[in-house]
Amino acid sequence: MIEEVKSVDVSLGTALEAFRRAYSVAQDPQERMLLDWHLANLEYANASLMSNLSMAYWDQDDPYEMGGDHCFIPGGNETFVRSLSEGLPIFYERTVQSIRYGSDGVLVYANGQEFRGDMVLCTVPLGVLKKGSIEFVPELPQRKKGAIQSLGFGLLNKVAILFPYNFWGGDIDTFGHLTEDPSMRGEFFLFYSYSSVSGGPLLVALVAGDAAIKFELMSPVESVNRVLEILRGIFNPKGIAVPDPIQAVCTRWGKDAFAYGSYSYVAVGSSGDDYDILAESIGDGRVFFAGEATNKQYPATMHGALLSGMREAANILREAKRRSNEVDSSNSLLRVRFGGKYLDVGCLSLCLYGLISRNQAIKLSEEEGEENRMRMLNQEFGVRLVGRKGLSGAGESLITNIRSAKSNLEDGGIQR
Ligand SMILES: Cc1cc2nc3c(=O)[nH]c(=O)nc-3n(C[C@H](O)[C@H](O)[C@H](O)COP(=O)(O)OP(=O)(O)OC[C@H]3O[C@@H](n4cnc5c(N)ncnc54)[C@H](O)[C@@H]3O)c2cc1C
Repeated sequence: MIEEVKSVDVSLGTALEAFRRAYSVAQDPQERMLLDWHLANLEYANASLMSNLSMAYWDQDDPYEMGGDHCFIPGGNETFVRSLSEGLPIFYERTVQSIRYGSDGVLVYANGQEFRGDMVLCTVPLGVLKKGSIEFVPELPQRKKGAIQSLGFGLLNKVAILFPYNFWGGDIDTFGHLTEDPSMRGEFFLFYSYSSVSGGPLLVALVAGDAAIKFELMSPVESVNRVLEILRGIFNPKGIAVPDPIQAVCTRWGKDAFAYGSYSYVAVGSSGDDYDILAESIGDGRVFFAGEATNKQYPATMHGALLSGMREAANILREAKRRSNEVDSSNSLLRVRFGGKYLDVGCLSLCLYGLISRNQAIKLSEEEGEENRMRMLNQEFGVRLVGRKGLSGAGESLITNIRSAKSNLEDGGIQR
């Protein structure tokens, strides 16, 4: 069924335009501008052009939507990040260039430094994975590469402007702007006032859709002048003068090498399944993935990113426990060399072997004195020492494993 829908998937833009024409909606220029404003608002929410969104699945996360009002966070979202990261060792100014994984662990290379671990959690944005900025060795499985390619990673930009005073009105939180040119419908179509939460007369203008892409080609001065032109077009006819700004900041998420876009969306031909595939770990539980684009229920959000981190923390813990249980219950090969007073054959020595558990090996290593260790082996563990040929199949396969691990170590283990 899913395959059938995928095969007929078209863009939401194509579908809506077909309906608009069929039902003669928004023929009047004023209505058309209003419709375009709402389409720009959709392009903002999805960070993509209507022509890229999957008609079948663009809103696949709607059933999971959380209740409650939208709200501004005084002090900004950074407040959360700062308190969540308290006490964590974070290495700043390191750009990961490659992640190499194998049966004996993971190596992460960043700015000429090598970080070694049992497992790694990769949380870079989908834009960075799409760009291929990080080399995975071995390569990512085809299934993962397919999902990275299929899902969309869109663009939304903002201009934040600080004015000397609030000219738009103290009780206004948001206001919009309509345009006659449909291709520029997303250009500063919505303004947010942050006066009540930022402590200053701050306006944030949003740029969505096609306009967000064109915006990145303009200089910051041009962009700010364009915002001022639009603001003056709104307020001057009301007899309100728009003052020159004190300070302005323009985002450029598409050009940012640590993002290459703003957030994910379901592109034509993609579906919610791709989020699940992006979330799958690889390398037999060595490399894990989190971030908004791995969360099918809450994609494109901060809470989606946070929840995906918690999900992967639980998965990593489960994997670590599984591995340590395997190690605890696994057999170790014990070799006891007899010579001197135990063996009266001159300078020759005799080697006998036994299979013991890892816990027994640890206990044995903690016991003082050879005689005590032999007693522990015989009486407490009940281990019978045998010659090399007397070892069972398990012993033989253990020797093969040890040999191959040794040669792996000599070759570097993890592929370099
Ligand atoms: C303009 C805009 C408005 C938004 N508005 C909202 C909103 O109102 N509400 C909401 O919930 N969400 C909003 N979002 C979305 C939200 O910000 C994201 O979904 C969320 O931040 C994603 O978190 P993440 O951990 O997946 O990725 P990120 O927060 O992007 O974290 C990824 C990290 O990886 C780092 N990185 C990248 N490449 C490398 C590398 N090679 N080596 C080392 N580090 C690397 C980056 O520097 C970054 O710190 C908005 C996003 C944008 C762009």
